[in-house]
Amino acid sequence: MAFMLSLDELGYQIRNCINCSLSQTRSNAVPGEGSTRADLVFIGEGPGFYEDRDGRPFVGQAGKLLDELLASISLKREDVYITNMVKCRPPNNRDPLPVEIESCRPFLDQQIQMIDPKVLVTLGRHSFTKFFPGEAISKARGKPRPWNQRLLYPMYHPAAALHNPKLRPLLEDDFNRLPSIVEAIVDIDASKVEPDDEIRQLGLFE
Ligand code: URA
Repeated sequence: MAFMLSLDELGYQIRNCINCSLSQTRSNAVPGEGSTRADLVFIGEGPGFYEDRDGRPFVGQAGKLLDELLASISLKREDVYITNMVKCRPPNNRDPLPVEIESCRPFLDQQIQMIDPKVLVTLGRHSFTKFFPGEAISKARGKPRPWNQRLLYPMYHPAAALHNPKLRPLLEDDFNRLPSIVEAIVDIDASKVEPDDEIRQLGLFE
C-alpha cells in the first residue's frame, strides 16, 4: 500500500509542478496511468490536446491505436503503465525543449524506479533518443537492448503510423514480439541483464 501511495504522491507532485514554463500553458498535467506493478512501461513524447484536456495519457487518435495494438496481444491499458517524457503539453504540440525534458526527467526516473518494470517501450523517435541520443529509430525499432538493468524496446510512435500507413505493419510486428520479450526477461531475472547475457542467446538481441 505504501508503494501505491508513493506513486499517487508523485502524481500529485506532477499535477502541481511549476518547474518549467509548460506549467503556465497546460490545462492539466498528465502523470500517467496503469498498473503500478506493470512489467511494461510505455513512454510517449508528451501530452497532446486531448491528453491536456483530460489529464490522461494517449486518449486521442494515437491512443486509440495504442489500445488496439495492446488488445492485439491481449493486453489492456490497466495491465501496463503509460506515461510520457514530459508530463505537460507543449503549446501547439511543438517538440518539447531540452530544458523542459531535463526538468521533467526526474519524474519519469522516479516512476520507473517505483513501478520497477522489466521492459521500457519507447514510442517514437523523441522518447527513444532521450535514452540513446543520436541513434535512428528506423534502425533501432523492434530490437530490445539493455538499459540500466532493464530492457528498452524502441518502437515507432502510433501517431507516426497514422500519418504514414507503411509504418503500421512494422509497429504491429514490434507489438507481436512483446509477449515473448516479456516472457524471456521474466524467466531470466531482469536484474542480471547485460548485453552478453543469456537473453542474447534467446535471440532477442541482434
Ligand atoms: N502522443 C504522446 O506522445 N503522448 C500522449 O500522451 C499522446 C500522444
